[in-house]
Amino acid sequence: MSKLLEGKPIAEKIKEEIRREIAALKNKPVLASIMSGDNPGAASYVKSQQKTAESLGVEYQLHKLSNDTSESALIELIKKLNTDKLTNGIIIQMPLPDSIDYKKISQFILPEKDVEGMHPANVGKIAFGKATILPCTPASVMELLKETGIDLYGKEIVVVGHSEIVGKPLALILLDKFATVTVCHIGTSGAGKLEEHIRRAEVLIVAVGKAGLIKGEWVKEGAIVIDVGINRVADKIVGDVEFEEAQKRASWITPVPGGVGPLTVTMLMRNLVEATKIQGHPPNQSEGCPLKK
Ligand code: NDP
Repeated sequence: MSKLLEGKPIAEKIKEEIRREIAALKNKPVLASIMSGDNPGAASYVKSQQKTAESLGVEYQLHKLSNDTSESALIELIKKLNTDKLTNGIIIQMPLPDSIDYKKISQFILPEKDVEGMHPANVGKIAFGKATILPCTPASVMELLKETGIDLYGKEIVVVGHSEIVGKPLALILLDKFATVTVCHIGTSGAGKLEEHIRRAEVLIVAVGKAGLIKGEWVKEGAIVIDVGINRVADKIVGDVEFEEAQKRASWITPVPGGVGPLTVTMLMRNLVEATKIQGHPPNQSEGCPLKK
């Protein structure tokens, strides 16, 4: 039987470190959060961010825009927050109105205020092994892996899902740890090859959003399984991996809910502290991309 890899106790430890770091800062870090419309999922994520911010001594400023906000109005707000010396981090809540392209919008946030780690300059730094701010979900996965005590060097790691927010940055981060990384996606499934990759994974990380995609019997004996997926099935939240069967084989496995989820907001706050420090002490150019002024 596997051990449960739960996010909450890890998040609590990291929050203690964050509190110490915040206490050493000159001012309370300020996080500006932009929400368009009243999507219930976004509202509940905002609530959880507000609660965590309060518990850590972070000032959380919510900017609520209407559902029919234009792209130009959103860009104007971002530009204003970029130049506001008191704002240390900016987060855009999803979903955005259909008329707004997130990829375009996210490029307007100054890289040093991009606490989600999604600006191309920050993603590029991951590729060069110079990241200072990691996207929150991949950062959470890395904390969970750290908790297992595994040495990633040379390990066969299979990442399922290649989104910009999870799979792609995670694969780059893991490569930097000298793991042998295979990234599976819709093409892998389409070619009928998903099972063969899963079967040899010593570490399996799944971020797709399809309940039961990964059969428990495919999981290698002793593998570490991190299930990022969130799916609502008959009023229950489940991941992408068949938990009961996978649990019999894995050495460690994340529950869903309770695995990756509880860590992501903590990672956001850690990024905010990092961003605040960068703004106070910009890295010199040899450390990475020069900061935009
Ligand atoms: P996306 O929809 O952006 O990406 C899903 C990925 O899965 C894509 O790369 C897609 O490939 C791939 N995919 C789709 N179908 C298959 C298949 N049959 N076989 C293999 N790969 C497939 O989702 P996200 O990355 O944003 O999120 C993934 C899941 O993780 C969701 O359930 C989301 O709710 C959850 N999540 C949870 C978080 C947490 O805090 N716990 C945080 C972030 C996400 P292609 O693009 O080629 O179709």
